[in-house]
Amino acid sequence: MTKRDYYEVLGVGRDASDDEIKKAYRRLAVQYHPDKNPGDHQAEESFKEATEAYEALKDPAKRRRYDQFGHAAFGQGAGPGAGGFGGFDLSDALRAFMRDFGGFGDFDDLFGGRRGRGQRMHRGQDLQVRLPLTLEEIAAGVEKKIKLNKLTSCEECGGSGAASGAGRSSCPTCGGAGEIRQVSRSILGQFVNVTGCPQCNGEGEIIATPCETCSGEGRVRGSTTLTVKVPAGVSGGNYIPIRGAGNAGPRGGPSGDVIVVIEEKKHDLFVRHHDHIVYELPLSVTQAVLGDEVTVATLEGTTSLRIPAGTQSDKIFKIGGRGIPHLNSRGRGDLLVKVTVWIPGKISAGQRKLFEELGRSEGLKPPRTDRTFFDTLRQTLGV
Ligand SMILES: [Zn+2]
Ligand SMILES: [Zn+2]
Repeated sequence: MTKRDYYEVLGVGRDASDDEIKKAYRRLAVQYHPDKNPGDHQAEESFKEATEAYEALKDPAKRRRYDQFGHAAFGQGAGPGAGGFGGFDLSDALRAFMRDFGGFGDFDDLFGGRRGRGQRMHRGQDLQVRLPLTLEEIAAGVEKKIKLNKLTSCEECGGSGAASGAGRSSCPTCGGAGEIRQVSRSILGQFVNVTGCPQCNGEGEIIATPCETCSGEGRVRGSTTLTVKVPAGVSGGNYIPIRGAGNAGPRGGPSGDVIVVIEEKKHDLFVRHHDHIVYELPLSVTQAVLGDEVTVATLEGTTSLRIPAGTQSDKIFKIGGRGIPHLNSRGRGDLLVKVTVWIPGKISAGQRKLFEELGRSEGLKPPRTDRTFFDTLRQTLGV
């Protein structure tokens, strides 16, 4: 997949200022944000693409490298979380957006999260949880319950943080603005310095009598059980974001997200290779020479495999369509059965006699055709 030019993605010129880049990204991010386009895959892709472009161009050093080398500047795996979902993960994109636009109240403005004029609500933290899955679960898709400790809204005060009956009042320090403007004069002129109000933490309101249960936080320690639907075909490192399931925000602020990170458990029999499953099957000398019908394990029960007479060690048999389903497309990988011929270490006297007899018969010695190997070896050793 060829990547679009980052400037083209943001719709700005190559000489765009940092501010123009930020504004252009903000406009696109708001337009395509998953909260505004639930379930719209195309919007999600556009959101990720815009965020990736913004992340590269907002940083002067990265931008210089990009101007010079293009996408090659960031090489492979430029985006974090390289998994089946593409280079730049949705959760990374959401975090990047929240980092630059969530902390200033802009986000709440854009999505209607504000309580009223001058009052800002802080969002709860995102929580990351690991979800280890077996290959069987990955192949079939699975619904999992995850128990999670988190900050939940205080029931006593309904999340407001105020004791019952006691209301909130406008913060006397900032007059409800949530920020403090200080004008200072210098020889260069007048400066306006804006800082968040320390008394109300930028919320514009204070609580006269805090709720005793939550000490005015509006949230308490609790736990919850989440149900996560995992589609078939995920890989270790894939993320599943669950919006609004994270920590409750302080004093009624919106909840953060839960980011479920998929982990792949080691399997006793199988090794995953992309969407293929590799299974190693030891054969006896006689099975390899004479052929056999064997039973092999699959992710769903067993199947039979015909080993033809004269099978060499390390031969791989493909059982089509018995691997892992593809995550983003139809079909599934294969089950690859790699056979190895097992040589017995200890044999009985009778078996020894049989092998000795075999050793004397014609046509059982391997042909010496591997000339190139010996040539290479000689060159390496210089003899
Ligand atoms: Zn409370
Ligand atoms: Zn204040």
